[in-house]
Amino acid sequence: MSLRPNSMKGYGTTMVNRAISIEKPGKQSQAKPVESDELAQALMRSAGTGIYIVQEGRFQYANPLFQELTGCTAEELLGTYSLNLVHPEDREVVRKKAVENLKGQSSYPYEYRFIKKNREVGWVLERVTSAEYTGKPATIGSFMDITERKRVEKSLQESEERFRTLFDSSRDAIMILSLPSWKFTSGNPATVEMFKAEDEKAFTSFGPWDLSPEKQPDGHSSSEKAKERIETAMREGSQFFEWTHKRLDGEEFPATVLLTRMEIGGQQLLQATVRDITERKRAEREREILLKDLKEINLKLGQSNKELQDFAYIASHDLREPLRKVASFGTLLQDSLEGKLDEDQQENFQFMIDGAKRMQAMIDDLLTYARITTRAKPFRQVNLNEVIEDLKNLELATLLDETEGTIYAPEPLPPVYGDSSQIRQLLQNLVGNGLKFHRTGIAPEITIRACQTGDNMARIEVQDNGIGINKKYHEQIFTMFKRLYSRVQYEGTDIGLAVCKKIVNRHRGDIGVKSTPGEGSTFWFTLPRASYSGDN
Ligand code: ADP
Repeated sequence: MSLRPNSMKGYGTTMVNRAISIEKPGKQSQAKPVESDELAQALMRSAGTGIYIVQEGRFQYANPLFQELTGCTAEELLGTYSLNLVHPEDREVVRKKAVENLKGQSSYPYEYRFIKKNREVGWVLERVTSAEYTGKPATIGSFMDITERKRVEKSLQESEERFRTLFDSSRDAIMILSLPSWKFTSGNPATVEMFKAEDEKAFTSFGPWDLSPEKQPDGHSSSEKAKERIETAMREGSQFFEWTHKRLDGEEFPATVLLTRMEIGGQQLLQATVRDITERKRAEREREILLKDLKEINLKLGQSNKELQDFAYIASHDLREPLRKVASFGTLLQDSLEGKLDEDQQENFQFMIDGAKRMQAMIDDLLTYARITTRAKPFRQVNLNEVIEDLKNLELATLLDETEGTIYAPEPLPPVYGDSSQIRQLLQNLVGNGLKFHRTGIAPEITIRACQTGDNMARIEVQDNGIGINKKYHEQIFTMFKRLYSRVQYEGTDIGLAVCKKIVNRHRGDIGVKSTPGEGSTFWFTLPRASYSGDN
């Protein structure tokens, strides 16, 4: 503040005692002293705008409000260059205005950015006038902080830009309907395209019913219905509905319409947002047709499945009795003819009886297969450890004896949820196969383990040390009658694994095998865990 004149100690006291003469813009030296310095002082102090005096580019005076707006005290301001307060990008303009003003060429207010003491940037509206101060030309500026107004203006502009971008880029048609006239006043580019208008202008001569067919699909008059909708939207604020529209070339199309009430400048308006749903409707129709077809196919499939099952069941069931007779009477006859037949005849007799017995076994297995669905029992909790113990002592006891095999479960198996007799059948087949398909001279060892899967299923593995299965047969062994070895080598009906697969599938599980020929096989399957009780 070294340049501050001595007489300017403290703003507004000594300073305003000096004569100030104010010039009218554009006129030179019509200075007239202010009549009362005290009055001037009071005016400066109480002024609602920031007021300053600059001479030769430096502040000579700053009223309290100016100090408040800039955040600087009088001591900090006086004597310093006034342009220092101006934002660097606006300095040139402000300098030009000051020069114009000094020459009396302009006194219009102008806006620029200024920098407060705390480095914040504010906006100001300034009006300057030339004056004579202490006998020398000076500039008096009145300075109004318009930062808040600028902020509001900016956000308004931004939101307008955002709205404009949305309006212009929307794929929905957005139209504004003016209510006194019931005509559209504007429409975005999508509107022009959707209704096939030449341009926005052409389109704005229409009302809502010009863009609709005479009648809606339910037979009601479009104009009456549209009026109803519009009135409801005006009453309730908004309305959303499906509507059949008409393009200007006459083509009708399905749409959804959202009407929203608005008030701009005291005028009631409706914004209509129209979405062309032709594609959606077409996809819906296609889906309905597909669903209908699928239902019919399912029904037919269900019927034919049932017929097939009934047939398999009846055929197997009814074949059992005559076959039993062939086998048992054949054995009786063979016994009664003992010693009367030669060797060939005896062998042929044996073939016949064996064939009948084999067929009996096959029919029994086929019946088991058919009964997976016909004799399905409700699901309940099944203790696999008990099942294994039972199998060892009952169904598999003979096979275990004959093969000198062992069955071993290192960890207790978790309870599963399913049809207990089917789960028993499943384990019997898998463990039985493990015992049956053992390597010559090596006693079969069956290990049963469980591991949890991520979903609500338990995975059980039945591992053997038998002959193993070539990878190329891993899939096909689960279908009926897929025999890999001669009947003489290994007895069986080739239905066991198909039964396993059907049982597991009924429980919504999976089944498969990992195997290395000559080393052994691990059959695995998944079943619902006991805690899980999904539909069966
Ligand atoms: P079967 O009812 O005659 O036992 P499966 O349907 O159970 O027939 O098995 C079909 C075929 O899969 C068997 O003939 C055999 O070749 C093969 N197979 C099944 N289990 C095993 C196993 N543990 N080890 C080796 N081969 C097996």
